[in-house]
Amino acid sequence: MTEQAHPEWEASYTRDTPAAWDIGRPQPAFVRLADKGLLSGLLLDAGCGTGENSLLAAGRGADVIGIDLSPTAIARAREKASERGLAARFEVADALDLERLAFTVDTVIDSGVFHVFSDEDRARYVASLAAALKPGGVCYLMCFSDRQPGTWGPRRIRADELRAAFSDGWVVESLTADTFDVNPVEGTTRVEAWLATITRL
Ligand code: SAH
Repeated sequence: MTEQAHPEWEASYTRDTPAAWDIGRPQPAFVRLADKGLLSGLLLDAGCGTGENSLLAAGRGADVIGIDLSPTAIARAREKASERGLAARFEVADALDLERLAFTVDTVIDSGVFHVFSDEDRARYVASLAAALKPGGVCYLMCFSDRQPGTWGPRRIRADELRAAFSDGWVVESLTADTFDVNPVEGTTRVEAWLATITRL
């Protein structure tokens, strides 16, 4: 799959107004993980967008690579890294095809990416994450929740669906209700999420 196959992701970064998720700062849930010292080692930010969570982790000493399908998002993430004097790597790459990476990582973060995939791509994504993580490595994943009312936004994920997706070769260590901060949309700046800590066996 290439960026050309998904022009809508590229378009979401070239409009005059930033996308709902592109808030210009890290998600508070990931700040809390960083405060606990959990965003460490060689860390992959899958679908990093403009890189705020990657740069959070880099600022706390992780060795970070952020990947995204959108070249504009990756260019912006690189600019931010250089403006802030942070040494994170950003590359255009497909999160469904992480087998191609020449290395494996200690930690993966996923902020708002799992929920973008169809059922078929979801299975590919989980296999791809397994290929990218060292055994014993940890994925911190936050996705849109079925507890969010209304129809705006990406597909809602149920806790049992998330557990089922990671039922083979993984341990879901924790799965808790959390929230995404978003740019103002339909009168709100906060939406319901699930935050999961998932270890690769
Ligand atoms: N993690 C970022 C962006 C979340 S929005 C943040 O928290 O701000 C979802 C992101 O996933 C978008 O940047 C989109 O370009 C990216 N994306 C979607 N499908 C992808 C794929 N197959 N590979 C890599 N990135 C993908």
